[in-house]
Amino acid sequence: MGFDKASDRTPAWQSASREHLWMPYCQMQTAPLPTPVARTEGVFLILSDRRRLIDGLASWWSACHGYNHPHIVESMTRQLHCMPHVMMGGIQHQPAATLATRLAAILPGDLNHVFFSDSGSVAVEVAMKMAIQFHRNLGDRQRTRFVSFAHAYHGDTTGAMSLCDPQRSMHAHFGDALLQQHSLPIPDSPERLEQFDEFLTRHGEQIAAVFIEPLVQGAGGMRFHSADVLTEIDRSCRKHGVLWVADELATGFGRTGTMFAVEQAGVVPDIICLGKALSGGAIGLAATVARDGVYQAFLSDDPSKALMHGPTFMGNPLACAAANASLDLFETEPRLEQVSQIESQLVTALEPCRNLSNVVDVRCKGAIGVVQVDRLHQLDQLRQHFVDAGVWVRPFGDCIYLTPSLTITADELTQLTEAFVTVTTQWSSNAS
Ligand SMILES: *Cc1c(COP(=O)(O)O)cnc(C)c1O
Repeated sequence: MGFDKASDRTPAWQSASREHLWMPYCQMQTAPLPTPVARTEGVFLILSDRRRLIDGLASWWSACHGYNHPHIVESMTRQLHCMPHVMMGGIQHQPAATLATRLAAILPGDLNHVFFSDSGSVAVEVAMKMAIQFHRNLGDRQRTRFVSFAHAYHGDTTGAMSLCDPQRSMHAHFGDALLQQHSLPIPDSPERLEQFDEFLTRHGEQIAAVFIEPLVQGAGGMRFHSADVLTEIDRSCRKHGVLWVADELATGFGRTGTMFAVEQAGVVPDIICLGKALSGGAIGLAATVARDGVYQAFLSDDPSKALMHGPTFMGNPLACAAANASLDLFETEPRLEQVSQIESQLVTALEPCRNLSNVVDVRCKGAIGVVQVDRLHQLDQLRQHFVDAGVWVRPFGDCIYLTPSLTITADELTQLTEAFVTVTTQWSSNAS
């Protein structure tokens, strides 16, 4: 059995593939057929039946300049004809070298050493290995465990899954099959901060690193915390000789109002993970970037002190060309100003949702707008109502949220939020 129903709008390729294309986070037996998309353009998804949806998600935070941005398309096209891919073992090429240099220049502090991979989860795995081996190379073999926080999401591979919230995450199912890490409440109050610091005092000697999604926790519930939390984590980790890793897969590249979320706290993590919008959302690319002190621990006459990792498609030239073009756009177009305009528009536009009976909270940060409800029921119907209203919004957990392209115009955003508020309001009144 595949998806539960087709309609006359279903294109032939989709009917023919019903049992072959296994979809993510999807109960294949009961889910309705996915929305067939034929093309993208700016902030629009254009469906097989020619309907145009304003994309409220920018393909999971990634399409920061909208889709098919001509500058990115042109750079990728040029690169495609020149060299789509070459292995990185023993070989270097200009797109990766230039991108590493440019990332080091825009990242805070001495985050200077860039290790590329092909997806965010792998960037997190690399950060875990980097942190463990950092301590080993310095002669400390005790530090093999990690601390992460309640509601954390750090990816779908097994190492990354072990860093997700052990009870509440989509990976809770795998709990007993995973490495056991430590999950603590995020230190956003004096008591919790004391608890965090005390934990490191007692168990710090086993901890290689603390992982946090700075300012905004994404897939684990779209929760925000203040920049002070990062300042305190930084201070406590330094005190206990523990590294800390900023997972900026979702928050990086302007999403929270600054190029990187950690900038708002003025602190520099030991390692930062980047992906999603790194390539402008055009193609898979991720990076794990280390500070000087971390990198130096890998330098030795001893070959076994090298970082033993190397994905086949590491530093893919096509992806690096897209990322270099994306950085050009951040330099030449006013993305961060656009983010602050999006934020003020979202704050005003989503406010009416606060009065709905089953809404728990409405919050916005940068180009992120979240309506948290007490319970999401009839999720499939709700998603369909958004499509019928001409927008692409995909609620999950207890959140209905927007993370549009940073290039969305005021008019497009108005259309998006009007549809968002209308559908959410109708859904809410049917529920109560
Ligand atoms: C998306 C995401 C990941 C995983 O990245 P993939 O490219 O999907 O593997 C990890 N951490 C955070 C915070 C993310 O948002």
